[in-house]
Amino acid sequence: MASSPRRGSRPSWRDRAFVVRTYDFAEADRVVVLLTREHGLVRGVAKGVRKAKSRFGSRLQPFVDIDVQVYPGRASGLATITGADTVTYYGHKLTGDFERYTAACAVMETAEKLAFAEADPELFALVREALGALERGGHPTLVLDAFILKATEHAGWGLSLFHCANCQAPGPHKAFNAAVGGAVCTNCRPPGSADVDPETLHEMWLLQHGHPVGAERAAQIHRLTAAHVQFNLESGLKALKIMEQA
Ligand SMILES: [Zn+2]
Repeated sequence: MASSPRRGSRPSWRDRAFVVRTYDFAEADRVVVLLTREHGLVRGVAKGVRKAKSRFGSRLQPFVDIDVQVYPGRASGLATITGADTVTYYGHKLTGDFERYTAACAVMETAEKLAFAEADPELFALVREALGALERGGHPTLVLDAFILKATEHAGWGLSLFHCANCQAPGPHKAFNAAVGGAVCTNCRPPGSADVDPETLHEMWLLQHGHPVGAERAAQIHRLTAAHVQFNLESGLKALKIMEQA
């Protein structure tokens, strides 16, 4: 059993958050992993939320931008989430649409893997932007890929999409290698690189820099972006694997 929050010993805080993951805990509690704006990834217990009619519990759902009240845990212990107010619900169009829902799950999984226990307002904003775009009817894999390209760039391991990722020779280039880090020139191109239309790399560059692109090349963009994520995040992403099988 978790001990009750020691009010007064450490100050509580409020922050904006998305629920990344939840699991049941004790009899009526739930452990919630939050991606917060100012405190990074936070693990907390929400007490009593599995009881019927818990309005608090109903707000601790995926795809909701919430305003949470948290009492920090002692040392490495769990925090306690004592309140949550809905800021924006993004789930209307997500839960009934497989592609959109899976893309939203992949956004959250990627965000969790990129987050640390420290403030990252930009990552939080990118998640918000991606969920909002999915909810407004954006192309599911293009929204996801734009998120991945921007978020990995922000995390410091973005793809090089114009210059050769190995020798920095300016493009356009015609090959891509996830292990090298993006576009590769004819001289650097290692075995196993993918042949790509330079226009595809250009469109990925546009997505990485926040510009919209058409859907014609979405499938190839998604294959290359997925290769990038899976090479860099050791275990890959469950939701991405599901999308590839669909
Ligand atoms: Zn090169």
